Amino acid sequence: MTIRLKLTLWYSSIVALTVLIFSMVLYTTVWRNSLRDIDTALRRRAESVASSIFLPPGMALRAKSIVIPDVDVFSGADVYVQVLDSSGDLVAKSANLGSQSLPITPDILTVGNGSPFRTEAVSGSYVRIYTVPILYRNSIVGFIQVGRSLQPLMTQLNRLKISLVLVSLATVLFAGAVGWLMAKTALKPIDKLTRSAREIGEKRDFGKRVAYRGPADEIGKLAATFNMMLDGLEQAYNHLEMALAGQKRFVADASHELRTPLTVIKGNVQLLRKSIGLDPEGTEEAIQDIEFEVDRLSRMASELLDLARADAGQHIVLAPVDLVEVITSVAKRLAVLASDRDFNVTFDPAISCVPVMGSAEHLERVLTILVDNAVKYTEPGGKINVSLSVSDHYAIIKVKDNGSGIAKEDLPRIFERFYRADKTRYRSGTGLGLAIAKWIVSEHGGQIDVTSELKKGSEFTIRIPMLSQGETEKSIRKS
Ligand code: ADP
Repeated sequence: MTIRLKLTLWYSSIVALTVLIFSMVLYTTVWRNSLRDIDTALRRRAESVASSIFLPPGMALRAKSIVIPDVDVFSGADVYVQVLDSSGDLVAKSANLGSQSLPITPDILTVGNGSPFRTEAVSGSYVRIYTVPILYRNSIVGFIQVGRSLQPLMTQLNRLKISLVLVSLATVLFAGAVGWLMAKTALKPIDKLTRSAREIGEKRDFGKRVAYRGPADEIGKLAATFNMMLDGLEQAYNHLEMALAGQKRFVADASHELRTPLTVIKGNVQLLRKSIGLDPEGTEEAIQDIEFEVDRLSRMASELLDLARADAGQHIVLAPVDLVEVITSVAKRLAVLASDRDFNVTFDPAISCVPVMGSAEHLERVLTILVDNAVKYTEPGGKINVSLSVSDHYAIIKVKDNGSGIAKEDLPRIFERFYRADKTRYRSGTGLGLAIAKWIVSEHGGQIDVTSELKKGSEFTIRIPMLSQGETEKSIRKS
């Protein structure tokens, strides 16, 4: 059952109940008031009859001796009068009663036995009868009965009943129709919302919003909430699409990158098979090639594993570390990497200790990646400088070289996985180093940026938030 139908039925039922109660109250009020009026009229009539009865003084208490007035004087078209003696025998009656008489039941004649008014059926129609005793020296010498046909009242009440039924029916029908229209108007915005939502769902067009121009009532709030939910859904959907596209690209790049060394290895193995024992120099070269590619493959495999773990949400365990210590401890190894370059590590003289929440192992790895790149892309004799300084509660590590530099169009992409600006130049690269460096830095709550100019050199800058004095002490106490 639709809400519209339910609302209409509820509305009609309430109106029907109200109309029913109103009709019943009206009907009973009219009936009671009319009956009261009739009763008053009957009593007055009886009083008039009583006052005109003449009882001769000293008469024996026999009803027959009551001088009865002409009861017809007191009767009307539908008012009947009759007089009874003390034993209940009819003494006189109005002519309009014809051969009939008002019913005489013994209990009527017992004074004080309930109400003096009775409603009795007389030849198929109801008559209201008032019985009053005629007293003479405190003794009952007879009774006056005044009756009135209830037929006109019944007819009137019947007409009222029919009118009430008709008016009630019309009112309920009218209320139902109005309720049906009102429910339609009230539910129209919801209908619109439903249609918009269905359309958005069917077309998967999460950029669309439900158009609601109206007050900020319940429906306005529903529309706003719905649009808010669509915002979230759109974001999630876009994010998912981007992630999916990135994943697809990653899989395609990974399979491509893995195939290249494998092709080289296979070619060399075939060459070895053919030239075994014939060309010792060529054999040595082929074995070197194989070794080189196998090294690259295993490096790529371990780097891919690192990135896969990062994608799976694995986090680096951080603890308070001193960057001065980290850089000092890795400097020797870096110097070996850059042995035939002018390699320097400099610390801001104003600092003695730079505490950050970090992992010494991973920070060393980032430095190795950057210095290794600087070496790769700088000619022997070139300059490479690693520096550490502090600015605005951030530790700043810079790795600067005066090597080949990076073209402007490549700069925004060098942190992408497998992206290599010049693939033919350094075959040993995997294109994953900077992607890993970026992940490690972001795990430290930091940021990595690059500025570079072709043929002039590049500068990689890492910014990591420093631990305040209080935080350092707290972390040391905890550990
Ligand atoms: P790769 O294994 O190729 O070095 P990276 O992710 O470490 O992969 O670097 C991505 C690309 O960024 C490199 O292929 C190179 O083109 C460019 N690049 C990185 N560091 C430097 C640098 N110091 N000088 C010039 N180019 C660089």
